[in-house]
Amino acid sequence: MKIILLAAPGAGKGTQAEKLSEHFSIPTISTGAILRKNIKDGTELGKIAAEYIHDGRLIPDDVMIGVVKDRLSQSDCENGFILDGFPRTIAQADALETAGIELDHVLSIEVPDETIITRLSGRLECSGCSTTYHKEYRPPKTEGVCDKCGAALTQRKDDKPETVKSRLETYHAETEPLLDYYSKKGKLRIAVGQEEISDTTKMVLKALEA
Ligand code: ADP
Ligand code: ZN
Repeated sequence: MKIILLAAPGAGKGTQAEKLSEHFSIPTISTGAILRKNIKDGTELGKIAAEYIHDGRLIPDDVMIGVVKDRLSQSDCENGFILDGFPRTIAQADALETAGIELDHVLSIEVPDETIITRLSGRLECSGCSTTYHKEYRPPKTEGVCDKCGAALTQRKDDKPETVKSRLETYHAETEPLLDYYSKKGKLRIAVGQEEISDTTKMVLKALEA
């Protein structure tokens, strides 16, 4: 099962990716999480990524394509994977195709921009395992602490309002054209994002039955 999740920042991609990962017993490959880990560890990739992410811009395609190809060639991806955050441009999608990766579903989770802006302002991320929470909609059991690994929860620097605005602009300009791209290939499935996480998961699973 090879699934791509396509949605605006803050649409709940990461959360739904986790649900799907459990449901199908396949790993989630989140490019955002990979990049943030590299920034934290101070790697070469992290140094390149930090600047772009800070401005809400995309990391250059050739860099990202290398990162993802590398990750997908690891043994845990043999039975499938969920890609969260890649591809984000037509060039990245073309690279997957050139690499001979056959996708089963490209799932778009649709959420209006206004909803996204409110959601991102309350989002928290685990500094240890990258699980996401929300101050109101998905609070951890203990304030400020990850349910799964006990590490501290932090706000992502790119969740600042100005950066959110440019991330949304980048999404509409660079990533949205992929909806048409995959629709033409007969791969596109659409789920309308709901207020409740579990309701969105229902829509997502229904969309994948098609
Ligand atoms: P979100 O979808 O919430 O914006 P992600 O965690 O997926 O956030 O990504 C955070 C940032 O990392 C993006 O704004 C972008 O700068 C960078 N990034 C992640 N994936 C890619 C990609 N496939 N291509 C280019 N840049 C990426
Ligand atoms: Zn954690």
